[in-house]
Amino acid sequence: MTQRTDVVVVGGGQAGLAAGYHLRRLGIEHVILDAQAAPGGAWQHTWDSLGLFSPAQYSSLPGRLMPVQEGELYPDAAHVVDYLADYEKRYELPVRRGVWVSAVHRDGAFLRVQTDGGDWQVRAVISATGTWTRPFLPAVPGRREFTGRQLHTVQYKNPAEFTGQRVIVVGGGNSGAQIAADLAHAGIDLTWVTQRPPHYLADDIDGRALFDAATARRRALDEGRTDTGGVAALGDIVAAPPVRAARDAGLLTAKPMFTQLTATGVRWADGTMAEADAVIWCTGFRPALAPFAALRLRGSRGHIATAGTRAVDEPRLHLLGYGDWTGPASATLIGVGRPARDAAREVAELLRP
Ligand code: FAD
Repeated sequence: MTQRTDVVVVGGGQAGLAAGYHLRRLGIEHVILDAQAAPGGAWQHTWDSLGLFSPAQYSSLPGRLMPVQEGELYPDAAHVVDYLADYEKRYELPVRRGVWVSAVHRDGAFLRVQTDGGDWQVRAVISATGTWTRPFLPAVPGRREFTGRQLHTVQYKNPAEFTGQRVIVVGGGNSGAQIAADLAHAGIDLTWVTQRPPHYLADDIDGRALFDAATARRRALDEGRTDTGGVAALGDIVAAPPVRAARDAGLLTAKPMFTQLTATGVRWADGTMAEADAVIWCTGFRPALAPFAALRLRGSRGHIATAGTRAVDEPRLHLLGYGDWTGPASATLIGVGRPARDAAREVAELLRP
């Protein structure tokens, strides 16, 4: 049986909820379909010690400030999950959980959304599928030969399972630095490998400054001024307290990227080797856009060409929360509110008789 509504939002993480908040304010009939059994999106799957890089009030969705977590300036992931669960309840957002969206097709004046719980016929779709379901691993020679354990950021939980092991962490971004620091503080035999030397933001800069930098960049571009470089110009790694402590204790010395994996470890270009029991790839994610393949909208780097949040070649599709290409800082809690509002307004225009 085909169900009908005006808008389907695919994904019920923070981006999907922000979209729901603004659609509801505009009185637009919609449903939010989320594959997971529980609220919280990707925040349910982070490692145990992860702390936000912004204080609570700078990590808030539209309409409701995130409450302060007692005793913590930077809230943990469980606090974010609680906040998101409360948020969707407070605004009575129409989230349906445990529903997997497999494909979106054009269907005359409508879009047809195929799910494992039946089809929906709608007039617009907002994609808020995030990235955590699509971990990215670089093509490094020898990856199949390595006989130890390989895992990605999403599978890492805590240092306990690596006790007594030699671990190589690959990646010079926030995930790599934080996981390396987590292991180093626990006394694990660690080799940290980065493509270029670690580039820390100044110690007094946290997510607040990142948001300001992204906003300044958007303003500059909107007003036709020179690109300020945004967040990328500040550095790659927020010197969050555990990272700073590990770095200052001399526990975070990065080596350049190795050129190949061997059966028992890794080898660098100059022939030096390191033995390892595990390699943790903190090498990022790609947008989870497989359900939109049938619309044939793929641009470069797995993105879809957008004007704001709207897909250039399919104005009934909006993309939300994936990063700067879908709105400055849109892949953050505080940054997704504005593009969500813009997407909802554009959808309202589209639906206007
Ligand atoms: P998600 O949270 O991934 O939600 C997407 C939802 O869609 C999921 O529930 C998923 O299961 C569902 N879904 C996907 N595909 C389908 C489908 N086909 N059908 C149905 N459902 C589907 N941001 C900050 O603001 N502050 C921070 O301190 C911060 N720290 C971070 C640290 C790390 C290590 C990482 C990885 C990210 C961090 N972020 C931070 C970034 C950002 O806030 C998160 O990545 C955020 O979870 C993205 O939200 P989202 O709603 O776009 O995606």
